[in-house]
Amino acid sequence: MVKVGVFGASGRVGKLLLEDLKNTQDISLSSVFVRNTLDFSIDPSVLVTTDIKSFLHACDVVIDFSLPEACETLLEAAIATPKPLVIGTTGLNIHQLNLLKQASENMPILYATNMSLGVALLNKLVYQASAALEGFDIEIVEMHHRHKKDAPSGTALTLAHSAAKARDLDLDRVRVSGRDGNIGARSKDEIAVMALRGGDIVGRHTVGFYNDGEFIELNHTATSRNTFSKGAIRAAKWLVDKEADLYSISDCLEI
Ligand code: NAD
Repeated sequence: MVKVGVFGASGRVGKLLLEDLKNTQDISLSSVFVRNTLDFSIDPSVLVTTDIKSFLHACDVVIDFSLPEACETLLEAAIATPKPLVIGTTGLNIHQLNLLKQASENMPILYATNMSLGVALLNKLVYQASAALEGFDIEIVEMHHRHKKDAPSGTALTLAHSAAKARDLDLDRVRVSGRDGNIGARSKDEIAVMALRGGDIVGRHTVGFYNDGEFIELNHTATSRNTFSKGAIRAAKWLVDKEADLYSISDCLEI
């Protein structure tokens, strides 16, 4: 039985994670990290703690869906007490991403801005399309619920990276995050990544390739957050006995 520690348990994804763990074989919840107290009841056999070291000691693998600053605290603690980590938190800054790389030298870490199978495949398709459709303009639009804090979504940025990589472009140089006013014509290499927010949209990503006379749009829509929690559980089972390294969701899904 694989023992899981959940970081971010009271969040939208975290709560589903606790439910899905109850219904999954060969894996169970063993510890939950909290800042103060949990505002819902939980099986008394689960360690609920504000002490991150005890939290790490009580599990075989951690699943994190929290916030960038919280994820940073987790990574710092894991550097002192190594543990396989499945990181789903998005919006990590350069320092936090470097910390993640540093930590993965001593423990297996799977970092995925989207844990769904569909988005993993979409990412591959975007790479292929970007390479094949030379000369097509690339534009990405993502839509999420009104509570989402980071923009554009980590998934949209991952898709943009794949599109840019397929054309040997540096995303930091070609990314456009908004258009307003008399900005002139679109330049050849730019890749726009636009974010829309509203209602309860779980997540929708469209990567469009536009040319004179035709266009293709690749779209993925998540209709339930369980796609992320179930994906993370599958990733935790896969990661728990791996060597120290930084893994992607594609490694886990073998696509
Ligand atoms: P949420 O705001 O509902 O939950 C955030 C959780 O983090 C809460 O449990 C909160 O208590 C906890 N938290 C905040 N600060 C903390 C701290 N300092 N220490 C410990 N815990 C802390 O958010 P959500 O919608 O559940 O999303 C969480 C993260 O997962 C976001 O970054 C989101 O973009 C990302 N996400 C990733 C995927 C994926 O597939 N990778 C899918 C959906 C959401």
